[in-house]
Amino acid sequence: MKKNIAVLGSTGSIGTQTLEVAKNLGIKVGAISGNKNISLLERQAREFSPEIIAVFDEKNAKKLKENIRDLSTKVVCGMEGLCEISCFSKSDILVTAISGMIGLKPTIAAINAKKDIALANKETLVAGGNLVINLAKENKVNILPVDSEHSAIFQCLQGCHDKKDLKKLILTASGGPFFGKTKGDLKSVTLKDALNHPNWSMGAKITIDSATMMNKGLEIIEATHLFDMPEDKIDVIIHRESIIHSMVEYKDGAVLAQLGIPSMKIPIQYALTYPKRKTSETEALNLGKIKNLSFYPPDTNVFETINICRRAIKQGGNKPITVNAANEEAVGMFLANKIKFTEITEIIKECEKHFAYAKISTLEQILEADQKAREFIRNMDIKS
Ligand code: MG
Repeated sequence: MKKNIAVLGSTGSIGTQTLEVAKNLGIKVGAISGNKNISLLERQAREFSPEIIAVFDEKNAKKLKENIRDLSTKVVCGMEGLCEISCFSKSDILVTAISGMIGLKPTIAAINAKKDIALANKETLVAGGNLVINLAKENKVNILPVDSEHSAIFQCLQGCHDKKDLKKLILTASGGPFFGKTKGDLKSVTLKDALNHPNWSMGAKITIDSATMMNKGLEIIEATHLFDMPEDKIDVIIHRESIIHSMVEYKDGAVLAQLGIPSMKIPIQYALTYPKRKTSETEALNLGKIKNLSFYPPDTNVFETINICRRAIKQGGNKPITVNAANEEAVGMFLANKIKFTEITEIIKECEKHFAYAKISTLEQILEADQKAREFIRNMDIKS
């Protein structure tokens, strides 16, 4: 079990749950980071006594420093600050609970510092892909998935002695708040409708990604890298109850699944205790009470994002970076009430079409492809 952790993004949904899990397991929280929620960072500083806190925004960092001047906690800021907590000398794992591309650089810094990674930041693998995986191999660093689907697959793969025995991975998806809706229905949905996820309580960005099903598309890309599987061996099935968190099918026809109540605390804890298991405070699964589990194929005509992501990973290079950046920008605009729900997917498609394939081999090229896509979208003529 890990003894000391650093948490990138400790004030978000995964971050706060990580701190609760750490507290329950008696793991020391050595370093944390946040951006805007200074009052929560202050409370976390007082409760967990981290040695160092990074606040991305410089002004907010000053404010926090002032508020906790009675503590011995060091406060740092900017991207440099995020990288500093990611490489915190006493921690033995970095939990990347931060959302968005901003997580890529600090994760790479942590891998170079030979820290294991509990990966909750999708963008690290969606955009960083081969670069991150190869770097982790070189540095003998473990990347432990925290995303519930990838953690489920990772758990079902324990005991798999030969990768050739694997037939496919099956990612489950709740279907989000708009399951069963037609393209026409989606035209009139509101921000409030989209933020109303049936099973999971998550941050705003991922909740919208779940409503467009981009989240599942990004998870396919993530799974190709994490488990070294081609996209056509990764299936998606809608499972409304979110009890089965994903499955692995072996060549003899055996299908292994990981089940549990929809709580992120189980995958977070497994990443911290791996390969061991510890008692948790999570409520037990009661299948007798749930009674039925239902499954449906995804409707990729209505939710096109899954196929956009499949195309992107098949083509490789700048493509996954481009669609990810386009999505992040479009979701930001939707959350700011600047565009309609259906325009998120339209914007991603426009961006996908605009940028031709380009080979990517360095971090600079990743950041450049990301920046170009964002600029393209910011300069787009959006009517609504
Ligand atoms: Mg997930």
